[in-house]
Amino acid sequence: TPTLKIENLHVAIEGKEIVKGFNLEINGGEIHAVMGPNGTGKSTLASALMGHPKYEITEGTVTFEGQDLLEMEVDERARAGLFLAMQYPSEISGVTNADFLRTAINARREEGDEIPLMKFIKTLDKKMDTLDMGEEFAQRYLNEGFSGGEKKRNEILQLMMLEPKLAILDEIDSGLDIDALKVVAKGVNEMRSPNFGCLIITHYQRMLNYIKPDKVHVMMQGRIVKSGGPELAERLEAEGYDGLKKELGIED
Ligand code: ADP
Ligand code: MG
Ligand code: MG
Repeated sequence: TPTLKIENLHVAIEGKEIVKGFNLEINGGEIHAVMGPNGTGKSTLASALMGHPKYEITEGTVTFEGQDLLEMEVDERARAGLFLAMQYPSEISGVTNADFLRTAINARREEGDEIPLMKFIKTLDKKMDTLDMGEEFAQRYLNEGFSGGEKKRNEILQLMMLEPKLAILDEIDSGLDIDALKVVAKGVNEMRSPNFGCLIITHYQRMLNYIKPDKVHVMMQGRIVKSGGPELAERLEAEGYDGLKKELGIED
């Protein structure tokens, strides 16, 4: 069974339907990209999958490792191995990055099976090295006064520390300069394994120069209108979304 299976998903916000019949299957080891113009429902899809209460599922099914994802509470989804990086990460004051990470890791383990402190510190050091993060990041308060690039880097650090089975990364490339983008990509690439699936949501193709997706899907008006390989992303970069709209006869 695929890690994530989305069938005919419809999502409404405040009574307005935004996602309109979305289908997607992601297997372990696969990286998929969902690209699309602004306002097409990409973030709505991501939030709905994570269980944000504002997003109403009006139709369809989603299973995660064969289990009904939509029946699970938000924290159950995280504990089951789902990770969502938000487009706008929030600040939590009074909690250091290291404390937050250790708490999050332990919350997903059985009681009595908490990660040993030394092991945690060693792993954290190693991952922070990969992401070119200075040691002081561990003791800084979560996201407080972080620059845009630092927040993104920190999200990838969370991803690497939590080792989810499936990650949904919504516009992790937005606002990143090329160096930060490469670092973020390095972190995601290091996660690649048969036990890790990833959905990268992005407006721009440039992130996909550094993280090679297995499949690329174009989302317009709430559903996937075309799927292909990495060449589809390159085509969009060259022609913009308008070329595809014309080809498919989609009007705004
Ligand atoms: P994308 O991520 O593809 O740019 P979004 O999912 O953010 O698109 O938005 C899709 C549509 O849903 C837009 O028309 C947007 O205005 C609307 N929308 C998104 N979030 C909310 C919200 N919290 N409340 C009301 N409308 C929203
Ligand atoms: Mg948007
Ligand atoms: Mg968005």
